[in-house]
Amino acid sequence: MSAFQGPAGRYAPSPSGDLHFGNLRTAVLAWLFARQSGRRFYMRVEDIDSERSSEESAQRQLEDLAALGIEWDDPVLYQHERGAAYAEALAALPTYECYCTRRDIREAASAPHAQPGMYPGTCRNLTDQERASRRSLLHTEGRLPAVRLKAQAPEWTVRDALRGEYTGAVDDVILKRGGRVDQAQAGDWAYNLAVVVDDGYQGVDQVVRGDDLLASAPAQAYLAHLLGYAEPGYVHVPLVVSRGGRRLAKRDGAVTLREMAPDGDYRPVVEAIAASLGHPGVGTLAELAQAFEPADLPREPWVWA
Ligand code: GLU
Repeated sequence: MSAFQGPAGRYAPSPSGDLHFGNLRTAVLAWLFARQSGRRFYMRVEDIDSERSSEESAQRQLEDLAALGIEWDDPVLYQHERGAAYAEALAALPTYECYCTRRDIREAASAPHAQPGMYPGTCRNLTDQERASRRSLLHTEGRLPAVRLKAQAPEWTVRDALRGEYTGAVDDVILKRGGRVDQAQAGDWAYNLAVVVDDGYQGVDQVVRGDDLLASAPAQAYLAHLLGYAEPGYVHVPLVVSRGGRRLAKRDGAVTLREMAPDGDYRPVVEAIAASLGHPGVGTLAELAQAFEPADLPREPWVWA
C-alpha cells in the first residue's frame, strides 16, 4: 500500500541550489493552501535531472523549509527512486521515439506553418523503415532517442483557482530524454511525466506552484487523464520578480534564506513573505495561517526590492 494519502497538496523543489525568496514564498503558499483546506502536505524532491540535482542541495532545501516553519507529512518522496513507476506509466501511454537534435527542431520549427514553441512533429509519423534507419544512425552517432507523447488532443482545459479556466496546447511533450550517451541527462525521465505520475501516486489534488508553469498544466492534466488519475485543481501563483521585471534569481543579491538571515533569525524572512502576501507585521507561519485568505492573494508579481 502507498505511504501516501490524498487529498493532498505538495511542494516539489528541484535540488539544484538553495531556494531563493521567490521559491520560499511559493512553498509557504502551497503549505497555506493545503493546510487551510484540511489537506495533507507533502514534500517531493524533483531530482530526476541527474546533471543538476544533488543530494546535498536537497538536504539544504528541506532544512531551509523546516527552519521557516513549514511542516509536512512523511515521507519525503525522491524522484530518483521512482524509475519503475515512470517506466510503467510510459508503457501505458501512446508514445513514439524522437530522433531529432535540438537543432533539427529549431530548423523545422522555423518553417512557415510551424506553431511556435510546439514540437513540429518530424518523428511522429515515420514508417517502420524510416524509424529503423534513424535509429541505427543515432546508434552510430552515440545518441539515444527521446520518447514523446503521441498526443491525441490538440489542447486541454484546466481549472486554476486564480486564472479560472485555462486552455492550452498539449503538444507531444518529451517523457524520456534523449541525447548523447555520454551526457548525464541522456535517458533521464522527463519532468512532465514524473510530475504527473507522482501527483497521482501521492493523492495530490491541489497543485500550488509558480505561474511560470501554467502553460505546462494542460499537457500534464491530459497525461493524468490518460493515466486514469483525477486531474488536480491548480493554483498558479504570481512569481517574485526583480525590479527590472525578470523572475528573481540568485544574481539579484542576498535572496536565499541563509543569505537573508545569516545569524539564523528567520523571523524577518517570514515577515517579508507575509508582507508580500498582504499581511505586514505577521512574523510566524502559524499567525500567517490564521490571517491568510486565499481570495486576497495578490494577483500581480511581487517586486523584490
Ligand atoms: N520542480 C519544479 C520546480 O522546481 C516544480 C514542479 C511543480 O511544482 O510542478 O520548478
